[in-house]
Amino acid sequence: GDSAAVPTIKRLDEAVVNRIAAGEIIHRPANALKELIENSLDAGSTTIQVSVKDGGLKLLQIQDNGHGIKVMDMGIVCERFTTSKLRSFDDLSSMSTYGFRGEALASISHVAHVTITSKTKDSNCAYKASYSDGVIIPSKPGATAEPKPCAGNNGTQISAEDLFYNVPTRRKALKNASEEYNRILDVVNRYAIHNEGVSVTCKKVGSNTPDVHTTTTATVLDNIRQIYGSAVANELLSLEKNFPPYQLKVKGWISNANYSVKKFAFLLFINHRSVDSPAIRKAIEAVYAAYLPKNTHPWVYLALEMEPRNVDVNVHPTKREVHFMNEEEIIATICDAIQDRLGDANVSRNFLTQT
Ligand code: ADP
Ligand code: MG
Repeated sequence: GDSAAVPTIKRLDEAVVNRIAAGEIIHRPANALKELIENSLDAGSTTIQVSVKDGGLKLLQIQDNGHGIKVMDMGIVCERFTTSKLRSFDDLSSMSTYGFRGEALASISHVAHVTITSKTKDSNCAYKASYSDGVIIPSKPGATAEPKPCAGNNGTQISAEDLFYNVPTRRKALKNASEEYNRILDVVNRYAIHNEGVSVTCKKVGSNTPDVHTTTTATVLDNIRQIYGSAVANELLSLEKNFPPYQLKVKGWISNANYSVKKFAFLLFINHRSVDSPAIRKAIEAVYAAYLPKNTHPWVYLALEMEPRNVDVNVHPTKREVHFMNEEEIIATICDAIQDRLGDANVSRNFLTQT
């Protein structure tokens, strides 16, 4: 009859809903790693070691020496909306930590096998638990699901294995492990450069030589030299300026007017989060266009600090593209500062060559 043509609405299985929601936040190994690194930094770590197998599809592991997770919190740490960083809606506007709504670990646990080992300095041993779909898995059928005491250093180790094992379409789309590894390295490089005082290491499992290694005593410029080489580091101008009207602080290292690269390298941080702003990107390219040969680009590291309540980090679950208050004026101000710096440097260079 006719009724057969009208589709019936059914409620999706909760596990399916969670998996779909997780896929909105975690698209690929590099997204998961960004969240894990930000958590380690939030925990006050000075050492962060990343190990990767098959571009992070087989294994993504991060070991830090931060404040750790209390054993009493290990049961809920992978549940959705559990966080030690945000208590009320109002807190959203004053967040200074990276993550802010307790979705990252939950998301990862819905699309990967997660194991957490953590030790706080007040505890005399570490605790370990494996998670699936937000909750601890019992070590054997019928056992109570609880963290198990074990040996370990202060800090936290988190492993995510077999990413998207339960999302075959996504898994198939990510078959190129070396491309995924390059995206992971891009995330690691950015955080390694930006975080003075933190040693960051990244290596493939089984390899003795890390692909990234910075030390706790290195400056941002040292880190850039370590990762991008002297060819870039030697051509950078420092940029440091405060703009009180916008409660804005700008710090950066920008390539000079006589140096260019094939592809625009743009490392942008807002309040210590690696983000993207197509508007800033475009405006900076336009400033350099007056100096650089056609089809060549600058190398720019820019760290902005502004009032957290002026930054809208809530635009997209992946939290990468950012908007902020007085965006046009602030971008114009930053571009003026870059313009001045490039102009100054050019004048002194000409002056030097003339004498
Ligand atoms: P959020 O970072 O938004 O709070 P997450 O899902 O990323 O949410 O993490 C949930 C909670 O787990 C954090 O609030 C924090 O208390 C704890 N946590 C996660 N990773 C670490 C870590 N490396 N060290 C210490 N605590 C951590
Ligand atoms: Mg987080």
